[in-house]
Amino acid sequence: MANNFPILVDRIKRDGRSLEGGILKVDGFINHQLDPDLLYHMSQEFARRFDPNSYNKILTIEASGIAPAVMLGYLTHKEVVFAKKKKPSTMNNMLVTEVFSFTKNTTYQICVSGEFLSADDKVLFIDDFLANGKAASGILDLVKQAGATLVGMGFLIEKSFQNGGKMLRDLNIHVESLATIASLDNCEITFEK
Ligand code: 5GP
Repeated sequence: MANNFPILVDRIKRDGRSLEGGILKVDGFINHQLDPDLLYHMSQEFARRFDPNSYNKILTIEASGIAPAVMLGYLTHKEVVFAKKKKPSTMNNMLVTEVFSFTKNTTYQICVSGEFLSADDKVLFIDDFLANGKAASGILDLVKQAGATLVGMGFLIEKSFQNGGKMLRDLNIHVESLATIASLDNCEITFEK
């Protein structure tokens, strides 16, 4: 059963658009223009669902995960690290992995410095969307390479008609999604009950 957060569900109903190919467009409040009030409420909800004493670091991926991750980091006083999609020439002790993107139909690398992700860290991963779980799998690999501990994964929006959520929960990962979408068929947005 989904645990939908009403404020986000209402906003998706009002301003979200279902595109061809099972893509939800939310660039009026998550992916391009940002709504800080909404981000504040969503991050408060993450702070309620994941015990802030259980993690010391929030990890995300640039670009769209950064805003909710920072808002949560502000509320819980945790450091926030974002995995980069371009390898900086100046990065020391770099951990790298590959991620396949269905929305862009390409493979890209994400990397994080071992300086900011290490065996001492208990990590909460925050991102905008969970679809096939490829980005999440990349993060799992980086956490593993660092020898860090993953505490959980929080997503603003999960598309349960794709298999990422099942894959992560089958690995016994604590996954929380603030809005779960069962279908985008016929350009209609149907939420999981
Ligand atoms: P996954 O790695 O779980 O297959 O896909 C997650 C990533 O793909 C997200 O970080 C997001 O950038 C992008 N993504 C997947 N589905 C959607 C969608 O329906 N709408 C938008 N805007 N981005 C999506």
